[in-house]
Amino acid sequence: MREKFLVFGSPRITEDEIEEVVSCLRSGWIGTGPRVAEFERRFAAYKDAEHAVAVNSCTAALHLSILAAGIGPGDEVITTPLTFCASVNAIIHAGGTPVLADVDPRSMNIDPKSVKTKITSRTKAILPVHFAGRACDMDPLCALADEHGLTIIEDCAHAIETEYHGRKAGCFGDFGCFSFYVTKNVITGEGGLILARKPEHAARLKVLALHGMSSDAWNRFGDSGYKHYLVTEAGFKYNMMDLQASLGLRQLDKVEAYWRRREAIWARYMDALADLPLTLPAPVEADTRHAYHLYSVMVDETRTGISRDAFLTAMTGRKIGVGVHYLSLPEHPYYQERFGWSPQDYPHARDIGRQTVSLPLSAKLTDEDVDDVITAVRGVLAKS
Ligand SMILES: *Cc1c(COP(=O)(O)O)cnc(C)c1O
Repeated sequence: MREKFLVFGSPRITEDEIEEVVSCLRSGWIGTGPRVAEFERRFAAYKDAEHAVAVNSCTAALHLSILAAGIGPGDEVITTPLTFCASVNAIIHAGGTPVLADVDPRSMNIDPKSVKTKITSRTKAILPVHFAGRACDMDPLCALADEHGLTIIEDCAHAIETEYHGRKAGCFGDFGCFSFYVTKNVITGEGGLILARKPEHAARLKVLALHGMSSDAWNRFGDSGYKHYLVTEAGFKYNMMDLQASLGLRQLDKVEAYWRRREAIWARYMDALADLPLTLPAPVEADTRHAYHLYSVMVDETRTGISRDAFLTAMTGRKIGVGVHYLSLPEHPYYQERFGWSPQDYPHARDIGRQTVSLPLSAKLTDEDVDDVITAVRGVLAKS
């Protein structure tokens, strides 16, 4: 067995990131400034997008996007039950009502057919999540949005490199929200970003992200003369720091190289686990690009002889960090009590949530790490 615990989702950090952070520290400007502006420009260029607003998390990005979309009390937003809680918490914090539509069991993404049945006169937006980095089926979702006049807010926390039919994830609707949390494909420690299609949305997002202060406030400590600011609405403290953008800038240099590394690890898992009684991820759909953020296997006790939770414990016992993405949202007491959600109403998300195990998938993994993961999975299943 390996000696050191393999931390799930640990990011690869190299000397250039360390140097950039140190240089930012030495520059005397660590708050929101030139590095954040450069990160926004570079990220927008990478995504072929017009406007990028960096914030301090994807949760903040989602919250502000929903507010900027004009969603509030009485409005419904349709999203997936198979996501991180932040996707629905953001809807709740904006005053809206989350409505769930079950996922397609193969893609694990929100099923447009199910979305269609959930649209009411109160529906204002669809919030798809490109789960694990696999593109949602955007053609039917965009058609539904067009037909019913709905805003699309994409949760791209897993989807930095994702593409669908030649277009990049985060550019299908008015808002695309990204995360640079430590386990994500590009990291800034904590961090997020919104791609906005309309300039007026981008401007409003900037104001909302910094206390509701007029846009000059972003430059008020600069060298171009003191600028007064005026508060135009009650905003939030959601701005990204240059210290964070330092990491992001050097990470963006390597986004494609790291994607290729994760693609190779993915292919190795596919090959090495194919003969086991596990359900492996479905093949990547034609004319799409998967971001390879999560590699998840389904542990069905009737086939494996071991429960999912026992599998998690056994993997950890073999010093391999694993994840669960995710227990479906209706499993959580808060949503059950507040919205009356129940897991059996979203059976595909429920079953995935109760069987799924995410194996380590990070550009930091060495070939030996990947071999250790494979050996551990095979060992755990052989013992059961
Ligand atoms: C990580 C994640 C978020 C939240 O991102 P933060 O940057 O940590 O706020 C939102 N949605 C999904 C699907 C995520 O995986």
